[in-house]
Amino acid sequence: MVSRVIPVDPFDLVIFGGTGDLARRKILPGLFRRFQSGQMPQGCRVIGAARTELDEGGYRKFVSEALTEFVPEGKRDEETVRGFLDTLFYVSVDAKGEGGWKDLAGLMREGVIRAFYFSVAPALFGDIAERLHEHGITNRESRIVVEKPFGRDLESARALNAVLARHFDETQIYRIDHYLGKETVQNLMAVRFANILFEPLWNAQYIDHVQITVAETVGVGGRGSYYDKSGAMRDMVQNHMMQLLCLIAMEPPYKFDPDAVRDEKLKVIRALDAVPLDNIVRGQYVAGQDNPGYLEDVGNPASRTESYIAMKVQVSNWRWKGTPFYLRTGKRLRARTSEICVTFKEPPHSIFEQEEGWRENVLVIRLQPNEGMNLKVMIKEPGPGGMRLTEVPLDMSFADALGENGTDIPDAYERLIMDVIRGNQTLFMRGDEVEAAWAWTDPIIAAWEARGERPRPYDPGTSGPEDALMLLHRDGRRWREIRE
Ligand code: NAP
Repeated sequence: MVSRVIPVDPFDLVIFGGTGDLARRKILPGLFRRFQSGQMPQGCRVIGAARTELDEGGYRKFVSEALTEFVPEGKRDEETVRGFLDTLFYVSVDAKGEGGWKDLAGLMREGVIRAFYFSVAPALFGDIAERLHEHGITNRESRIVVEKPFGRDLESARALNAVLARHFDETQIYRIDHYLGKETVQNLMAVRFANILFEPLWNAQYIDHVQITVAETVGVGGRGSYYDKSGAMRDMVQNHMMQLLCLIAMEPPYKFDPDAVRDEKLKVIRALDAVPLDNIVRGQYVAGQDNPGYLEDVGNPASRTESYIAMKVQVSNWRWKGTPFYLRTGKRLRARTSEICVTFKEPPHSIFEQEEGWRENVLVIRLQPNEGMNLKVMIKEPGPGGMRLTEVPLDMSFADALGENGTDIPDAYERLIMDVIRGNQTLFMRGDEVEAAWAWTDPIIAAWEARGERPRPYDPGTSGPEDALMLLHRDGRRWREIRE
């Protein structure tokens, strides 16, 4: 199936932090792929901005190297790379100083969309917003994209929202959570709201429980000092996992419109119960498999920051009362996988004689690797020998089913950046959503800090601390195995 590409309107996209890691690994390769697909028409320009002194040639060389490193060889040809490099410009600006801002103002064109990607530390957001305004670089139609982390608690998120609101209307602010740009995540909405099949069953009467897992095999790596101030709760649960939970739990929006969707997500966040500490397991990986442990990785032997968290969350509304959502995420686990697993209840009465217990229908939504969905259904075991039941998967791997050559699924960043240019905020977090998520997160963190417990140690290459198993066992359930 060949996907239809609708070109966007011409734009100037300024990437503050255009020489940074995120720009190199994600933003620029993503833009290249959109250029290659024909979605960026003639007249689109990408302007790198950072303090490093570079001329245009220097920046194009930098980007060319990034493409070599992060776009597979078979996915780029010289001519397209050259064409993309021609769209690139560079200005040296200091977010905290005056240097370079007049040059940037002089570079901007009238009559095209102006977008500004703040791919810098959040501490610089206010300075950049202020200077863009001061130098008349933004207008009412301009958009800004801001990266995570959006605050580290409710107070700092409010402060950040207030800083941005000084110069930008909420309709101009795109708070990016790349999980929302993943094809499967959007498909979750399509599956729920474009089919009659699931929605009648999508509630506590028919769904036993939901598991959301984001497992990584890597440790904190070079991000140790940042991560140690954050931990799994702030780094993953408050944003990515909360967004996934919202898409599973939300009511149907009245239409697929940014505010209609975000209103429904906000209602879910507000319906989350406070989580007692007994429903939370926090862990830290220890040394093993030739790797140092968490404490060595972050260089802080006294650290109580969690590299793993598992929790049982309740959504208190009519639809979900009584159906728990189990969330877990961690580093240095057995496999790299992100998935949502919706386990339906058993039929109320079995007409078949089953030797073992009845097996439930399970819908697994895989975000990575191999984006796709898989529904486990019961069928008759083929052949003679009476009515024996067996479980089979109805498997839909998006790459097999939809992608050109099976590998054509766009990266989350490319999709989201094009949404910014199109002016579509549906897959971006609104300010009140982020604040509500922190309002739920803050008391949980405050409670464990007050208790002062150390996270439970766990061996690398496992599925996390033993205690996390108990979180489900005591409810008569078990985690889905972590595997690729
Ligand atoms: P990074 O590699 O440290 O890059 C920071 C960028 O900001 C560099 O281009 C740097 O260039 C520029 N910069 C620093 N101070 C500046 C100033 N005063 N004025 C103008 N430019 C300045 O950081 P990153 O990993 O790309 O992360 C960027 C943002 O994305 C952060 O908010 C981060 O939390 C977020 N993020 C990153 C990732 C990731 O995978 N990397 C993932 C999710 C979110 P100069 O030194 O030349 O000025």
